[in-house]
Amino acid sequence: MDFDVLVIGSGPGGYVAAIRASQLGLKTAIVEKAEVGGICLNWGCIPTKSLLKSAQVFDYTKHAADYGVTLNSEPKADFTKMVERSRNVANGMSSGVQFLLKKNKIEVITGFGKLTAKNTVEVTDAEGNKKKVTAKHIILATGARSKELPNLPQDGKKIIGYRKALTLDKQPESMIVVGSGAIGSEFAYFYATLGTQVTLVEFLPNVVPNEDEEVSKQLERSFKKAGIKVMTNASVEKVDTSGKKCKVTIKTKKGEEQHEADVVLSAVGITPNIEGIGIEEMGIELEKGKVKVDDFYRTNIEGVYAIGDIVHGPALAHVASAEGIACVEKIAGLDVHPVDYSNIPGCTYTIPEVASVGLTEKAAKEAGYQIKVGKFPFTASGKASAAGAKEGFAKLIFDEKYGELLGAHLIGANVTEMIAELVVAKKLETTGHELIKSIHPHPTMSEAIMEAAAAAYDEVIHI
Ligand SMILES: Cc1cc2nc3c(=O)[nH]c(=O)nc-3n(C[C@H](O)[C@H](O)[C@H](O)COP(=O)(O)OP(=O)(O)OC[C@H]3O[C@@H](n4cnc5c(N)ncnc54)[C@H](O)[C@@H]3O)c2cc1C
Repeated sequence: MDFDVLVIGSGPGGYVAAIRASQLGLKTAIVEKAEVGGICLNWGCIPTKSLLKSAQVFDYTKHAADYGVTLNSEPKADFTKMVERSRNVANGMSSGVQFLLKKNKIEVITGFGKLTAKNTVEVTDAEGNKKKVTAKHIILATGARSKELPNLPQDGKKIIGYRKALTLDKQPESMIVVGSGAIGSEFAYFYATLGTQVTLVEFLPNVVPNEDEEVSKQLERSFKKAGIKVMTNASVEKVDTSGKKCKVTIKTKKGEEQHEADVVLSAVGITPNIEGIGIEEMGIELEKGKVKVDDFYRTNIEGVYAIGDIVHGPALAHVASAEGIACVEKIAGLDVHPVDYSNIPGCTYTIPEVASVGLTEKAAKEAGYQIKVGKFPFTASGKASAAGAKEGFAKLIFDEKYGELLGAHLIGANVTEMIAELVVAKKLETTGHELIKSIHPHPTMSEAIMEAAAAAYDEVIHI
């Protein structure tokens, strides 16, 4: 065998699995057909956050006077420079991962990898040259791409996916974003902040529909305040791209409406990259279009594993990484616990930010828990007032019987940084009173967590 572990795909699932495998003394290689770092670093998490930072800076400068800062001229958003910065940040991160792989003595084989036999991957490079690489353990970490719906065929010009939305040549005057999950909401916020007229269309009754309903409602209010037209319980039926502008038919509860926009961004989800990699030929079992794996990411074929966006579970970078680590630690014979899918944080980096972990209020009730709910609004937070960021709240859900934290739902400035505290709290089965008695620094946004816990037990001080 050439290697102990061979990973196909260098996203946050693949490259993290490879580094951990190498740390554990396994001879490891990665096959990658495009940029090292996968979607996350190159076309997902990082470039979007870079654009969002630009939008936030622009927004700050527009409100500079509120903070006692006078600008000599109106701030202008330079769209091209923002995109350029975002690409530079992504490229820098990709180089960083290349460095890490080298440091960990992981060979990177450039080309398209396909399983051709047990323990064998055929790699085809850009010139069409093929070579066979063998390994005891092969991990599929090929990720996913933007989902195409038949009524939203992406042409890369008028109907676009996230890749194009990250690299448009010029800022559109108007945009219809289809789908209000994290990706759709982040792009809606980014473009609206820059002055694009954005309509956000969501099929379900709420934006960010996986979040707690109160958080969704708050984000919808904030979006409307920011000038985004939000259409929930609505679906894009048809897009006519024959004219200068897209003519978009949107079905609402009241009937069909006609809208116009320069660009339609389809953000309706992702499709796993399972084609052409030997899944069918090897008889690897699928489950609802994704690779079927056990608790340690073993497929039904011995020696073949799958992690990240091609398996079930939340399609998030930190989940892919956690799966990669668990997978290779098991391969190396360590005593490993399965990934705890009930304790995965999810974040949306709009303004206000959204962050949550665990059960929503509705899900906790549906699961049969008697619950205690505590909520603390940032309007009552000294730090939020000082920062001029009073939108949002912290909401915590506890099991009434044992006081265990079941879920945390935050919306406001910096909450994507604050959620980690609640992930640790949940992991350690922290009770409401333990949170109340954990002294939080003043003044910080994080005090809202202690106060929300106190609110659940009628001990809140500042409201
Ligand atoms: C716009 C956007 C924003 C996002 N923001 C966030 C965020 O803020 N936080 C978060 O947690 N997640 C975010 N995500 C999701 C996150 O990017 C993915 O969950 C994560 O990248 C999945 O990691 P992965 O390792 O499974 O696959 P990927 O990152 O998709 O990497 C797969 C890699 O495999 C390579 N590959 C595929 N097939 C082959 C083959 N046959 N041979 C060789 N190489 C192959 C691909 O080129 C790619 O490099 C975002 C996604 C998008 C699209």
